[in-house]
Amino acid sequence: MTHVETSANGSDTRPGDGDVRVDTFELIDPRTGELVGRHPVHRAGDVERAVERARDAARWWADLGFAGRRKRLAAWRRLLVSRMDEIAELMSAETGKPADDARMEVVVAVDHLAWASRNAERVLGRRRVHAGLLMGNQTATVSYPPFGVVGVIGPWNYPVFTPMGSIAYALAAGNAVVFKPSEYTPGVGRLLGQTFEQALRADAGSATDPGRPVLQVVTGFGETGAALCRAGVDKLAFTGSTATARRVLAACAENLTPALIECGGKDPMIVDVDADLNAAADAAVWGAMANAGQTCIGVERVYVLEAVADDFLERVVERASAVRPGAEPTADFGPMTMVERAEVVAGQLRDALDRGARPLVGGTASVRPPFVEPLVLAEVPEDSTAITQETFGPMLTVNRVPDVDEAVRRANATSYGLGASVFSARRGEAIAARLRCGMVAVNGVVTFAAVPALPFGGVGDSGFGRIHGEDGLREFTRAQAVTRQRFATPMPVMSFSRSARAMRALVGLARARHG
Ligand code: NDP
Repeated sequence: MTHVETSANGSDTRPGDGDVRVDTFELIDPRTGELVGRHPVHRAGDVERAVERARDAARWWADLGFAGRRKRLAAWRRLLVSRMDEIAELMSAETGKPADDARMEVVVAVDHLAWASRNAERVLGRRRVHAGLLMGNQTATVSYPPFGVVGVIGPWNYPVFTPMGSIAYALAAGNAVVFKPSEYTPGVGRLLGQTFEQALRADAGSATDPGRPVLQVVTGFGETGAALCRAGVDKLAFTGSTATARRVLAACAENLTPALIECGGKDPMIVDVDADLNAAADAAVWGAMANAGQTCIGVERVYVLEAVADDFLERVVERASAVRPGAEPTADFGPMTMVERAEVVAGQLRDALDRGARPLVGGTASVRPPFVEPLVLAEVPEDSTAITQETFGPMLTVNRVPDVDEAVRRANATSYGLGASVFSARRGEAIAARLRCGMVAVNGVVTFAAVPALPFGGVGDSGFGRIHGEDGLREFTRAQAVTRQRFATPMPVMSFSRSARAMRALVGLARARHG
């Protein structure tokens, strides 16, 4: 995929300012080299104005309350479902991913949107908590009001599902959102914004109503994202690489803007002696190769117990050998969206082979940009880059381990900690509990991402904070605690007029309860 920044002939409009011309960039289909679209390059001033406009919209949106937002988010959901094929087609053109993968992404994203809007009131609405013995004369409640304006920066690999993990939950919680999609998927990002706007207009009963800028989309390159971090948003939700996350955090630090950071991973799979080897091999190959391996929670390393290693590898080789990349909608997976990333895969492959790894499927000739054919390597040295760095391509490493302890040790020996999977008939959950990461699928892969009630996020270089589920809703709110006095206490202690008797009673109570 290439970008061409244009000035004289390439122009578009600013968000909200119908006739102001701005520079644009072009987007090319990585499968065909054809032009897919042209999008504005929004500068710092444009981003600041978008955040400013969002302020009023945020108040209006918050005042709608949970029921009002639920109704409008349901309208958006219906629109996304009815336009699913169009969204999927554009996604395929921008990223190169097969049509069904694109559709599946929309389906799961819509499911999250539904869960977030249906559960927001239960999770975030004011609720009473026990005030405790010392403060027995108080009523204590907690609620979770929205921040106001949330900035969302998204990657290109799952351009609907991934940003929706922040957008849907931030909106359901009552925030307005300014979204900066990746420069590789601006069209999909803008389509999300347009469909939301359309849903609001339909609700207002007028196709010409300018609507409220509750969800705005700004497009451009890294500088546009950097401008969003500095534009005075109340929270910034970033999904992307660890290297960019460091820059995002530095920019957010300038205004003490809180940030949610979702970065890459180096997800391990552990295959136990009693695992269903067919299911494990199927999951390892799909988890590693789907979307050309460009999945933050894709399987990159397998640790298989020695006793079943040969049988497992035989099944992996059989399956991986049958998987084919291609430009056609029915291909198993598409090209590398960022074509230059093929060189990263080639580099890791060379490094692993030089250090003695055994190629079981594919080899150096498998990297033929924009495509990379399935690669399976065995006995890969643990200090090779294929093990230590995120590959983000269709390459799977499989290493044998003597026992579960060693599998867990190696699985955890990474600076990342996003997801993991375990195949085991009897001790899957026990192994899962020993893994240092945010999510684990037992006897499956990636399944946790499609359960809206489950939180999603990592540790270490994979980031911090959570999208999805109750934690994901709270992530876009500030907890507010309120106490209300029900009756005056006969012996006040939080007063300069407190008596010695009141203090004796207080200390006596503490001794009786905690001494
Ligand atoms: P990048 O880090 O390159 O970019 C992510 C986003 O940040 C893009 O929108 C990018 O804009 C923007 N950006 C770039 N520079 C800056 C900056 N200085 N300030 C603010 N924003 C900036 O990641 P990719 O898009 O290449 O995405 C792939 C990465 O994302 C992988 O590491 C993958 O594992 C991770 N990921 C993590 C997920 C998770 O949930 N944990 C889910 C999906 C992916 P532009 O594209 O215009 O440069």
